[in-house]
Amino acid sequence: MKLLIPFAFLLTSPAFADVPVARDVLFQGTMQLQVDLRDVKQGIFRIHQTIPVSGPGPMVLLYPKWKPGNHSPSGQIENLAGLKLSAGGKPVTWRRDPIDMFAFHVDVPAGATEIEAEFQYLSPQKGGAGGRRVFGPSMANLQWESVSLYPAGYYVHNVPVRASATYPAGWTGFTALRGQQRGTTVTYDQVPYDILVDSPVYAGAYTKQVQLDPQVTFDIVADSPWQTAITPEQVALHKTLVQQADKLFGTRHYDHYDFLVALSDYQSGDGLEHHRSSENTLDADLLTDWDANLYDHYVVAHEYTHSWNGKFRRPADLWTPDYNQPMRDSLLWVYEGQTQFWGDVLSARSGLWSKQAYLDFLANVVARYSEGMPGVTWRPVQDTTSQPIITDHGPGGAWPSWFRSADYYRNGELFWIEADATIRKLTNGKKSMDDFAKLFFGVEPGQWDHELTYRFDDVAAALNQIAPYDWAGFLRSRLDSTDPAINRRTVEAAGYRLVFGDKPTDSSKKQLAKAKVDDFYYSVGLNLSKQGEIKDVLWDGPAFRAGIRPTETVLAVNDAAYDADAMARAITDAKRGAGPIRLVVKSDDRYRDVTIDYRGGLRYPRLEKIGTGEGALDRLLAPR
Ligand SMILES: [Zn+2]
Repeated sequence: MKLLIPFAFLLTSPAFADVPVARDVLFQGTMQLQVDLRDVKQGIFRIHQTIPVSGPGPMVLLYPKWKPGNHSPSGQIENLAGLKLSAGGKPVTWRRDPIDMFAFHVDVPAGATEIEAEFQYLSPQKGGAGGRRVFGPSMANLQWESVSLYPAGYYVHNVPVRASATYPAGWTGFTALRGQQRGTTVTYDQVPYDILVDSPVYAGAYTKQVQLDPQVTFDIVADSPWQTAITPEQVALHKTLVQQADKLFGTRHYDHYDFLVALSDYQSGDGLEHHRSSENTLDADLLTDWDANLYDHYVVAHEYTHSWNGKFRRPADLWTPDYNQPMRDSLLWVYEGQTQFWGDVLSARSGLWSKQAYLDFLANVVARYSEGMPGVTWRPVQDTTSQPIITDHGPGGAWPSWFRSADYYRNGELFWIEADATIRKLTNGKKSMDDFAKLFFGVEPGQWDHELTYRFDDVAAALNQIAPYDWAGFLRSRLDSTDPAINRRTVEAAGYRLVFGDKPTDSSKKQLAKAKVDDFYYSVGLNLSKQGEIKDVLWDGPAFRAGIRPTETVLAVNDAAYDADAMARAITDAKRGAGPIRLVVKSDDRYRDVTIDYRGGLRYPRLEKIGTGEGALDRLLAPR
């Protein structure tokens, strides 16, 4: 009986019965979507939408809930307001589904041929609660799924839509869509709804477009005109990135590609992949203070790789016919992990990162997963693929080194570095992960209209085609492992070992300066702000064992006011035999003395070459 009650509820609940499941049938007619972006002062998108209907009776309009690329139910329904429906000029009432907050029930009146919808998308005024700030005085990030409804019951690829956007005077909008401009309104070519959603717009007052290749442009939108100043050297690096990706994959899965890059200190950060464009909001000074932003140079290479890995080739359980069926994230260690791997490799091959910068940043990754992330001991990488759904794509918890994070990215990257070294060893250097990239991603040249899905066994089979081996066992033993030591071995297989010195690498110094972080993570187990606020405490590290928690503030170190030099001196003195490290810590409005008994000195990770001659990683990073 206990089982029968929910079953009976399912059968009788109108909420479940009434939302039609997506079917692979053609939607009759074309949706019209008009978005007005002229309210730059208050950041309000005003939307008018027309949805054809095939007759009277019940209908459900959906607001996209599961956003592609977020792998999570991150649609911001809380920002949709002012919804009014009508047919033939007469109001039509709607009723929100009592269980699915993203579904609106409508009774289409007799004689109606279309439903008109008016509503607004209220961009958050600051990032944080309510999602990303996407609309400011000098730029907007128009994500079509945020400003549109679609009819339930159809594959989104079968719903044609003609969208237009009216921009403030003087603004330029960049997108993978093509269209006609009249006045300040651009009417985009009719496309299936999924392609519209996959083609966001960055629009703004201060823009620049650079041609990297006959098919590829680099489109910049910035807070201020001078921030669009891309140098010839920066253009050359991104041209090389496009060439290196061609050599790697052998095909392109787009008719044209727009790198969409917004540079802003006000808009919320953004990093989303698409078939035919990137979508990245980075710091306003990315181009004008290029060297200080060294770490972020890989980001566009990562997003570009997704055109092949993630957009064209898609995990079968992640692919959904519409945006309201749940996605499953079990293969994100390929989708994101191998994209991280190739994005970083392409950064090194193109010169966006020097080889040394690549090695310096990789050292941080190896250190993190071999001793800086004790959560490895209970939570395997496979389980971290649940992270986007558990935390709605945000960071999770106060103790990230114990809870873990979206580690399928960079912990996954390590497994692919080891896979590359393993293929080279098995084939006496004749084959590598480059061969896998061509075999797995380089098929169906020019195809971008549909996704080619895959399962775990397809990945193992493709690896087997390159070099016969127990690849399923190789992958499973790493994905399901709770032994931190396996992560150290990944780079050792590729010819480098993790070591610690008393100074950060040059690349890490730039990254820490940019992030304004004082790094004592691998010594006392703390990351702090310049003001001594504790950002992160290494689980079970020396500071943790002394009872320190994140958000507290270190006011003094060995009787001196806190700064990075005072902390470094105290750690070094303790190693030389002075007493333990003494801190004054402020916690809310309470003060207390804390003693950390740590004698190991300053420790910062770097990679050291094993032996002489070229190792697997050296060969992997060499430009093609
Ligand atoms: Zn990614």
